[in-house]
Amino acid sequence: MRRFHCTCGQEVIFEDSECPACGRLLGFNPESLTMLAAARHNATKLRFGTGDGLRACALRNHPVACNWLIPANGPHVQCCSCRLTRTIPAQTIPLNVQRWKILESAKRRLVYSLLWLDLPIVDRAQNPASGLAFDFMEDQRTNPLVKKHRVHTGHKNGVITLYAAEADDVHRMMAREQMNERYRTVLGHMRHESGHYYWDVLVKNTEWYPRFRRLFGGEENYREALDCYYAHGPAPNWVSRHISAYASAHPWEDWAETWAHYLHIMSTLETATGFGVIPHADVYSSDFHVLIQKWEQLTVLMNSLNRSMGMPDAYPFWLTPQVIVKLRFIHQVIAAHSQA
Ligand SMILES: [Zn+2]
Ligand SMILES: [Zn+2]
Ligand SMILES: [Zn+2]
Repeated sequence: MRRFHCTCGQEVIFEDSECPACGRLLGFNPESLTMLAAARHNATKLRFGTGDGLRACALRNHPVACNWLIPANGPHVQCCSCRLTRTIPAQTIPLNVQRWKILESAKRRLVYSLLWLDLPIVDRAQNPASGLAFDFMEDQRTNPLVKKHRVHTGHKNGVITLYAAEADDVHRMMAREQMNERYRTVLGHMRHESGHYYWDVLVKNTEWYPRFRRLFGGEENYREALDCYYAHGPAPNWVSRHISAYASAHPWEDWAETWAHYLHIMSTLETATGFGVIPHADVYSSDFHVLIQKWEQLTVLMNSLNRSMGMPDAYPFWLTPQVIVKLRFIHQVIAAHSQA
Protein backbone atom coordinates (compact mmCIF):
# COMPACT_ATOMS: atom_id res chain seq x y z
CA MET A 1 0.00 0.00 0.00
CA ARG A 2 1.30 3.46 -0.88
CA ARG A 3 1.20 6.46 1.48
CA PHE A 4 -1.52 9.07 1.22
CA HIS A 5 -1.68 12.73 2.19
CA CYS A 6 -4.46 15.27 2.46
CA THR A 7 -4.03 18.55 0.54
CA CYS A 8 -3.19 20.16 3.92
CA GLY A 9 -0.13 17.88 4.15
CA GLN A 10 -1.47 15.58 6.86
CA GLU A 11 -0.68 11.90 6.33
CA VAL A 12 -3.92 9.92 6.08
CA ILE A 13 -4.65 6.22 5.79
CA PHE A 14 -6.32 4.21 3.05
CA GLU A 15 -9.57 3.91 5.04
CA ASP A 16 -9.91 7.62 5.94
CA SER A 17 -12.89 9.52 4.59
CA GLU A 18 -12.04 12.68 6.50
CA CYS A 19 -8.71 14.35 7.24
CA PRO A 20 -8.06 14.15 11.01
CA ALA A 21 -6.16 17.46 10.86
CA CYS A 22 -8.23 19.84 8.69
CA GLY A 23 -11.55 17.99 8.39
CA ARG A 24 -11.54 17.93 4.56
CA LEU A 25 -13.62 15.08 3.16
CA LEU A 26 -11.46 12.49 1.41
CA GLY A 27 -12.10 9.91 -1.26
CA PHE A 28 -9.96 7.24 -2.89
CA ASN A 29 -9.84 7.22 -6.68
CA PRO A 30 -9.35 3.60 -7.84
CA GLU A 31 -8.50 4.80 -11.38
CA SER A 32 -5.34 6.62 -10.28
CA LEU A 33 -4.86 4.89 -6.89
CA THR A 34 -4.74 8.31 -5.23
CA MET A 35 -6.52 9.96 -2.32
CA LEU A 36 -8.41 13.14 -3.20
CA ALA A 37 -9.89 15.86 -1.01
CA ALA A 38 -13.42 16.98 -1.88
CA ALA A 39 -13.30 19.92 -4.29
CA ARG A 40 -16.84 21.10 -3.67
CA HIS A 41 -19.94 19.79 -1.99
CA ASN A 42 -23.37 20.63 -0.75
CA ALA A 43 -25.65 18.67 1.52
CA THR A 44 -26.26 15.84 -0.96
CA LYS A 45 -23.49 16.02 -3.57
CA LEU A 46 -19.80 15.59 -3.01
CA ARG A 47 -17.46 16.28 -5.92
CA PHE A 48 -13.82 15.27 -6.10
CA GLY A 49 -11.18 16.00 -8.75
CA THR A 50 -11.46 18.35 -11.69
CA GLY A 51 -13.61 18.47 -14.83
CA ASP A 52 -16.73 16.34 -14.62
CA GLY A 53 -15.20 15.05 -11.46
CA LEU A 54 -15.79 12.07 -9.26
CA ARG A 55 -18.48 11.41 -6.73
CA ALA A 56 -18.71 9.21 -3.69
CA CYS A 57 -19.68 5.54 -3.76
CA ALA A 58 -23.30 5.01 -2.67
CA LEU A 59 -22.05 3.10 0.38
CA ARG A 60 -20.15 6.10 1.79
CA ASN A 61 -22.72 7.55 4.23
CA HIS A 62 -23.69 4.05 5.16
CA PRO A 63 -22.55 1.50 7.77
CA VAL A 64 -20.10 0.08 5.16
CA ALA A 65 -18.38 3.51 5.12
CA CYS A 66 -16.72 3.03 1.73
CA ASN A 67 -14.45 5.98 0.84
CA TRP A 68 -13.98 5.08 -2.83
CA LEU A 69 -14.98 7.30 -5.75
CA ILE A 70 -16.73 6.76 -9.07
CA PRO A 71 -16.99 8.93 -12.22
CA ALA A 72 -19.67 11.55 -11.51
CA ASN A 73 -21.37 10.97 -14.87
CA GLY A 74 -20.86 7.19 -15.02
CA PRO A 75 -23.62 4.57 -15.01
CA HIS A 76 -22.84 3.14 -11.55
CA VAL A 77 -23.82 4.21 -8.05
CA GLN A 78 -21.37 1.93 -6.22
CA CYS A 79 -17.60 1.84 -6.65
CA CYS A 80 -15.75 -0.93 -8.50
CA SER A 81 -15.09 -2.76 -5.22
CA CYS A 82 -18.55 -2.53 -3.60
CA ARG A 83 -20.37 -3.62 -6.74
CA LEU A 84 -18.46 -6.91 -6.83
CA THR A 85 -20.57 -7.98 -3.84
CA ARG A 86 -23.56 -10.08 -4.88
CA THR A 87 -24.85 -11.42 -1.56
CA ILE A 88 -24.72 -10.00 1.97
CA PRO A 89 -25.90 -11.55 5.24
CA ALA A 90 -29.26 -10.35 6.66
CA GLN A 91 -28.80 -6.74 7.74
CA THR A 92 -31.64 -7.03 10.28
CA ILE A 93 -29.03 -8.67 12.55
CA PRO A 94 -26.74 -5.91 13.95
CA LEU A 95 -23.68 -8.17 14.00
CA ASN A 96 -24.06 -8.74 10.25
CA VAL A 97 -23.88 -4.98 9.64
CA GLN A 98 -20.46 -4.99 11.31
CA ARG A 99 -19.40 -8.15 9.45
CA TRP A 100 -20.32 -6.64 6.09
CA LYS A 101 -18.28 -3.53 6.89
CA ILE A 102 -15.21 -5.60 7.82
CA LEU A 103 -15.52 -7.79 4.72
CA GLU A 104 -15.84 -4.77 2.41
CA SER A 105 -12.87 -3.09 4.04
CA ALA A 106 -10.67 -6.14 3.41
CA LYS A 107 -12.06 -6.43 -0.13
CA ARG A 108 -11.02 -2.86 -0.92
CA ARG A 109 -7.46 -3.77 0.11
CA LEU A 110 -7.62 -6.82 -2.17
CA VAL A 111 -9.00 -4.79 -5.10
CA TYR A 112 -6.33 -2.13 -4.53
CA SER A 113 -3.57 -4.77 -4.96
CA LEU A 114 -5.25 -6.21 -8.06
CA LEU A 115 -5.48 -2.75 -9.65
CA TRP A 116 -1.92 -1.94 -8.61
CA LEU A 117 -0.66 -5.15 -10.23
CA ASP A 118 -2.71 -4.32 -13.34
CA LEU A 119 -4.71 -7.53 -13.11
CA PRO A 120 -7.98 -7.75 -15.05
CA ILE A 121 -11.16 -7.45 -12.95
CA VAL A 122 -14.18 -8.54 -14.97
CA ASP A 123 -17.41 -8.42 -12.98
CA ARG A 124 -20.63 -10.42 -13.39
CA ALA A 125 -22.27 -7.59 -15.37
CA GLN A 126 -19.51 -7.87 -17.98
CA ASN A 127 -19.40 -11.66 -17.91
CA PRO A 128 -22.41 -13.36 -16.26
CA ALA A 129 -20.85 -16.84 -16.58
CA SER A 130 -17.42 -16.33 -15.03
CA GLY A 131 -17.09 -12.68 -13.93
CA LEU A 132 -15.87 -11.96 -10.42
CA ALA A 133 -18.46 -11.69 -7.61
CA PHE A 134 -18.53 -12.09 -3.85
CA ASP A 135 -21.17 -13.86 -1.79
CA PHE A 136 -20.86 -13.08 1.94
CA MET A 137 -23.02 -15.75 3.52
CA GLU A 138 -24.26 -17.00 6.85
CA ASP A 139 -25.28 -20.51 7.81
CA GLN A 140 -27.18 -22.10 10.69
CA ARG A 141 -24.16 -21.83 12.97
CA THR A 142 -24.72 -18.05 13.21
CA ASN A 143 -28.34 -17.71 12.09
CA PRO A 144 -30.83 -20.58 12.59
CA LEU A 145 -33.27 -18.80 10.24
CA VAL A 146 -31.17 -19.35 7.09
CA LYS A 147 -31.56 -22.50 5.00
CA LYS A 148 -27.90 -23.21 4.51
CA HIS A 149 -26.58 -25.75 6.98
CA ARG A 150 -22.95 -24.96 6.39
CA VAL A 151 -21.21 -22.34 4.23
CA HIS A 152 -17.78 -23.22 2.90
CA THR A 153 -15.45 -20.43 1.93
CA GLY A 154 -14.35 -21.06 -1.64
CA HIS A 155 -14.42 -20.12 -5.32
CA LYS A 156 -16.41 -21.39 -8.29
CA ASN A 157 -16.58 -19.90 -11.81
CA GLY A 158 -15.73 -16.38 -10.63
CA VAL A 159 -17.92 -16.40 -7.51
CA ILE A 160 -16.04 -16.15 -4.24
CA THR A 161 -18.07 -17.32 -1.25
CA LEU A 162 -16.95 -16.17 2.17
CA TYR A 163 -18.40 -17.35 5.44
CA ALA A 164 -19.47 -14.02 6.96
CA ALA A 165 -18.51 -15.04 10.53
CA GLU A 166 -14.86 -15.03 9.40
CA ALA A 167 -15.15 -11.29 10.08
CA ASP A 168 -15.53 -12.07 13.83
CA ASP A 169 -12.18 -12.17 15.61
CA VAL A 170 -13.25 -14.84 18.10
CA HIS A 171 -14.63 -17.18 15.43
CA ARG A 172 -11.55 -16.70 13.25
CA MET A 173 -9.09 -17.32 16.08
CA MET A 174 -10.95 -20.47 17.14
CA ALA A 175 -10.95 -21.74 13.55
CA ARG A 176 -7.24 -20.95 13.34
CA GLU A 177 -6.52 -23.01 16.45
CA GLN A 178 -8.71 -25.87 15.27
CA MET A 179 -7.01 -25.97 11.88
CA ASN A 180 -3.57 -25.53 13.43
CA GLU A 181 -2.84 -22.52 11.19
CA ARG A 182 -0.19 -19.87 11.80
CA TYR A 183 -1.97 -17.12 9.91
CA ARG A 184 -5.68 -16.49 9.30
CA THR A 185 -7.10 -13.08 8.36
CA VAL A 186 -10.06 -11.79 6.34
CA LEU A 187 -7.67 -10.23 3.83
CA GLY A 188 -5.78 -13.53 3.64
CA HIS A 189 -9.04 -15.33 2.73
CA MET A 190 -9.78 -12.73 0.05
CA ARG A 191 -6.32 -13.05 -1.43
CA HIS A 192 -6.43 -16.85 -1.37
CA GLU A 193 -9.81 -17.05 -3.12
CA SER A 194 -8.74 -14.45 -5.69
CA GLY A 195 -5.93 -16.90 -6.50
CA HIS A 196 -8.47 -19.49 -7.65
CA TYR A 197 -10.20 -16.85 -9.78
CA TYR A 198 -6.92 -15.78 -11.41
CA TRP A 199 -5.87 -19.38 -11.99
CA ASP A 200 -8.94 -19.65 -14.23
CA VAL A 201 -8.14 -16.33 -15.94
CA LEU A 202 -4.35 -16.46 -16.31
CA VAL A 203 -3.29 -20.13 -16.23
CA LYS A 204 -6.09 -22.46 -17.33
CA ASN A 205 -6.00 -23.03 -21.10
CA THR A 206 -2.94 -20.79 -21.51
CA GLU A 207 0.73 -21.31 -22.38
CA TRP A 208 1.48 -21.19 -18.63
CA TYR A 209 -0.49 -24.33 -17.90
CA PRO A 210 2.22 -26.98 -18.64
CA ARG A 211 4.65 -25.15 -16.36
CA PHE A 212 2.01 -24.90 -13.68
CA ARG A 213 1.62 -28.68 -13.76
CA ARG A 214 5.36 -29.23 -13.56
CA LEU A 215 5.76 -26.92 -10.55
CA PHE A 216 2.55 -27.52 -8.62
CA GLY A 217 1.43 -30.94 -9.88
CA GLY A 218 -1.58 -32.40 -11.70
CA GLU A 219 -5.04 -31.32 -10.55
CA GLU A 220 -6.86 -34.66 -10.70
CA ASN A 221 -8.96 -35.87 -7.72
CA TYR A 222 -9.53 -32.49 -6.08
CA ARG A 223 -12.38 -33.61 -3.79
CA GLU A 224 -10.56 -36.76 -2.69
CA ALA A 225 -7.39 -34.79 -1.97
CA LEU A 226 -9.24 -32.30 0.25
CA ASP A 227 -11.11 -35.08 2.09
CA CYS A 228 -7.78 -36.79 2.69
CA TYR A 229 -6.23 -33.53 3.97
CA TYR A 230 -9.07 -32.95 6.44
CA ALA A 231 -9.00 -36.59 7.60
CA HIS A 232 -5.23 -37.10 7.91
CA GLY A 233 -3.63 -33.64 7.98
CA PRO A 234 -0.84 -32.34 5.76
CA ALA A 235 1.89 -34.33 4.08
CA PRO A 236 4.73 -34.83 6.63
CA ASN A 237 7.34 -33.01 4.50
CA TRP A 238 5.10 -30.08 3.51
CA VAL A 239 7.45 -27.43 4.97
CA SER A 240 10.10 -27.91 2.31
CA ARG A 241 7.71 -27.73 -0.64
CA HIS A 242 4.77 -25.54 0.40
CA ILE A 243 4.16 -22.12 1.92
CA SER A 244 1.55 -23.54 4.32
CA ALA A 245 0.25 -26.89 5.50
CA TYR A 246 -3.01 -26.33 3.61
CA ALA A 247 -1.07 -25.71 0.39
CA SER A 248 -0.04 -29.37 0.50
CA ALA A 249 -3.71 -30.45 0.18
CA HIS A 250 -3.84 -30.13 -3.63
CA PRO A 251 -2.03 -28.23 -6.44
CA TRP A 252 -4.94 -25.74 -6.79
CA GLU A 253 -4.73 -24.94 -3.08
CA ASP A 254 -0.96 -24.71 -3.36
CA TRP A 255 -1.38 -22.17 -6.17
CA ALA A 256 -4.01 -20.16 -4.21
CA GLU A 257 -1.89 -20.16 -1.03
CA THR A 258 1.24 -19.14 -2.96
CA TRP A 259 -0.74 -16.48 -4.86
CA ALA A 260 -2.06 -15.03 -1.59
CA HIS A 261 1.48 -15.05 -0.26
CA TYR A 262 2.75 -13.23 -3.34
CA LEU A 263 0.11 -10.52 -2.74
CA HIS A 264 1.16 -10.31 0.95
CA ILE A 265 4.78 -9.83 -0.11
CA MET A 266 4.15 -7.25 -2.84
CA SER A 267 1.70 -5.24 -0.77
CA THR A 268 3.99 -5.14 2.27
CA LEU A 269 7.02 -4.28 0.14
CA GLU A 270 5.08 -1.40 -1.41
CA THR A 271 4.36 -0.10 2.10
CA ALA A 272 8.01 -0.51 3.11
CA THR A 273 9.27 1.41 0.07
CA GLY A 274 6.70 4.15 0.75
CA PHE A 275 8.24 4.66 4.19
CA GLY A 276 11.79 4.45 2.84
CA VAL A 277 12.59 1.23 4.75
CA ILE A 278 13.67 -0.39 1.48
CA PRO A 279 14.97 1.46 -1.60
CA HIS A 280 12.35 1.61 -4.35
CA ALA A 281 14.83 0.41 -6.99
CA ASP A 282 15.52 -2.86 -5.14
CA VAL A 283 11.90 -3.88 -4.93
CA TYR A 284 11.10 -3.00 -8.51
CA SER A 285 14.29 -4.61 -9.80
CA SER A 286 13.74 -7.12 -12.58
CA ASP A 287 15.66 -9.72 -10.59
CA PHE A 288 13.17 -11.68 -8.52
CA HIS A 289 15.90 -12.93 -6.18
CA VAL A 290 16.76 -9.35 -5.20
CA LEU A 291 13.12 -8.81 -4.32
CA ILE A 292 13.05 -11.97 -2.18
CA GLN A 293 16.32 -11.01 -0.50
CA LYS A 294 14.85 -7.61 0.46
CA TRP A 295 11.70 -9.32 1.62
CA GLU A 296 13.60 -11.68 3.90
CA GLN A 297 15.47 -8.73 5.45
CA LEU A 298 12.20 -6.90 5.98
CA THR A 299 10.51 -9.87 7.66
CA VAL A 300 13.32 -10.08 10.24
CA LEU A 301 12.62 -6.41 11.02
CA MET A 302 8.84 -6.91 11.13
CA ASN A 303 9.11 -9.88 13.51
CA SER A 304 11.62 -8.11 15.73
CA LEU A 305 9.34 -5.07 16.01
CA ASN A 306 6.40 -7.28 16.94
CA ARG A 307 8.40 -9.20 19.54
CA SER A 308 9.45 -5.90 21.12
CA MET A 309 5.75 -5.19 21.60
CA GLY A 310 5.10 -8.66 23.05
CA MET A 311 3.13 -9.62 19.95
CA PRO A 312 3.38 -12.86 17.95
CA ASP A 313 5.48 -12.79 14.77
CA ALA A 314 3.94 -10.71 11.99
CA TYR A 315 5.46 -13.13 9.49
CA PRO A 316 5.20 -16.73 10.70
CA PHE A 317 6.45 -18.26 7.44
CA TRP A 318 9.60 -19.66 5.99
CA LEU A 319 10.48 -19.42 2.29
CA THR A 320 12.27 -22.53 1.00
CA PRO A 321 13.90 -22.72 -2.47
CA GLN A 322 10.96 -24.75 -3.81
CA VAL A 323 8.46 -22.17 -2.56
CA ILE A 324 10.53 -19.32 -4.05
CA VAL A 325 10.42 -21.02 -7.46
CA LYS A 326 6.62 -21.11 -7.26
CA LEU A 327 6.46 -17.45 -6.17
CA ARG A 328 8.69 -16.52 -9.10
CA PHE A 329 6.36 -18.36 -11.47
CA ILE A 330 3.41 -16.27 -10.18
CA HIS A 331 5.54 -13.13 -10.52
CA GLN A 332 6.23 -14.04 -14.16
CA VAL A 333 2.59 -14.83 -14.95
CA ILE A 334 1.47 -11.46 -13.52
CA ALA A 335 4.32 -9.52 -15.16
CA ALA A 336 3.56 -11.08 -18.56
CA HIS A 337 -0.06 -10.07 -18.23
CA SER A 338 0.79 -6.49 -17.16
CA GLN A 339 3.08 -6.05 -20.15
CA ALA A 340 0.59 -7.57 -22.60
ZN1 LIG B 1 -6.21 17.83 5.79
ZN1 LIG C 1 -17.70 1.50 -2.50
ZN1 LIG D 1 -8.71 -22.57 -1.85
